[in-house]
Amino acid sequence: SAITNHMPTAELQALDAAHHMHPFTTNDALETRGARVITRAEGVYLTDSEGNSILDGMAGLWCMNIGYGRKEMAEVAARQMMELPYYNTFFMTTHVPAIALSQEIAKLTPGDLNHVFFASSGSEANDTNIRMVRTYWAEKGHPGKSHIISRKNAYHGSSVGSGSLGGMSFMHAQGGLPIPGIHHINQPDWWGEGGEMSPQDFGIARARELENKILELGEDKVAAFIAEPVQGAGGVIVPPDSYWPEIQRICDAYDILLIADEVICGFGRTGTWFGSETMGVRPHIMTIAKGLSSGYQPIGGSVVCDEVAEVIGATEFNHGYTYSGHPVAAAVAMENLRILQEEKIVDRVGSIGAPALKAGLEQLVDHPLVGGLSIKGMMASLPLTPHKESRAKFAAEPGTVGYICRERCFANNLVMRHVGDRMIVSPPLVIEPEDIDVLVARARRALDETY
Ligand code: PLP
Repeated sequence: SAITNHMPTAELQALDAAHHMHPFTTNDALETRGARVITRAEGVYLTDSEGNSILDGMAGLWCMNIGYGRKEMAEVAARQMMELPYYNTFFMTTHVPAIALSQEIAKLTPGDLNHVFFASSGSEANDTNIRMVRTYWAEKGHPGKSHIISRKNAYHGSSVGSGSLGGMSFMHAQGGLPIPGIHHINQPDWWGEGGEMSPQDFGIARARELENKILELGEDKVAAFIAEPVQGAGGVIVPPDSYWPEIQRICDAYDILLIADEVICGFGRTGTWFGSETMGVRPHIMTIAKGLSSGYQPIGGSVVCDEVAEVIGATEFNHGYTYSGHPVAAAVAMENLRILQEEKIVDRVGSIGAPALKAGLEQLVDHPLVGGLSIKGMMASLPLTPHKESRAKFAAEPGTVGYICRERCFANNLVMRHVGDRMIVSPPLVIEPEDIDVLVARARRALDETY
């Protein structure tokens, strides 16, 4: 018989545990403690199979920028499915949704980032980037310039390539990551690792690790440096102001391509269209996904500057995905970009969303468990600590307190995530101030229950 939202929760959970393997989950645990079944969503609230209304403080997985339930998005998808549900962009073919979306992205992205190679996810786009930067240098007569430098705790995706770019040691421990030629320097996490240094000195010191790594490997061996403008899944690590200018100087000085992974930061999250603009850097390539379609369809891509596109364009780049530029995903992304622009949602982040979120979360900093607030635009983290002044870490297994707090949030109908003992907030960009009040009240209750 058909499986529907109307079935009893326990039955849905049992079927889920029997046949569905979840990402980043101990799947056996689903048998004893079923997954929460999400049945609908509207605005910034999810509904579960028990009828609870859950405030989504994470915008899904940092992607639901325009909020749930926008009918225009469904209408565009239906229209496109009737007209042209699929065609590829291999072998000298194209279609209007891919043409239109690439134009629009070229218009919105800064500088001469004018060319888009489409993918269906951030992981795929970062895999494209690995092959693209290596091919670029090979075509320019420097095949040895193939090493890529990234950062510890970075998240760039889950495929073999993008998981290798990422700096998550628990991911590297499974399945043979990282692939050769990828190196990881430390992240600019002043709160967690800055010790007695001033944030500015620490920012410079962490940026200089890039220079040291380039010198160690040899300038003629390094193809690119990849980083998120503000590290997201690593814990919302907002770098000190000194960090990015020094990174830019080093990339320029050693002729290293700079890849900005904008999968979270892009499309308004930091208060401008792209995190690179907020942080004042000029990447050669941007990775985009998530907010490109606000998660309504899977789509991502690599946005490439004129110089790289020209070099890659002179040869056959033997790379692509069946769904590169998928017409339905592209049409839906186009509609998302229309909504973001016409409703001035990115401007609203700067004028309303970010100040309201900051003011709300600042109210939690006096809680005995909260060590501070790290925030840029509408992405934030609250590090939990047993001792605020020394920024001490909990003695228990790292992440235990964060895990408990996240569970308490969920029990209080609030989605927040934890990275170690940092609590993360990244709501839909359209969240209203009164819903931020709800978020703060539920988070405080969860903190009290954790303490
Ligand atoms: N890059 C960043 C910065 C991300 O945060 C993510 C996902 O969270 C990815 C890449 C991978 O994107 P996807 O999950 O769409 O493959």
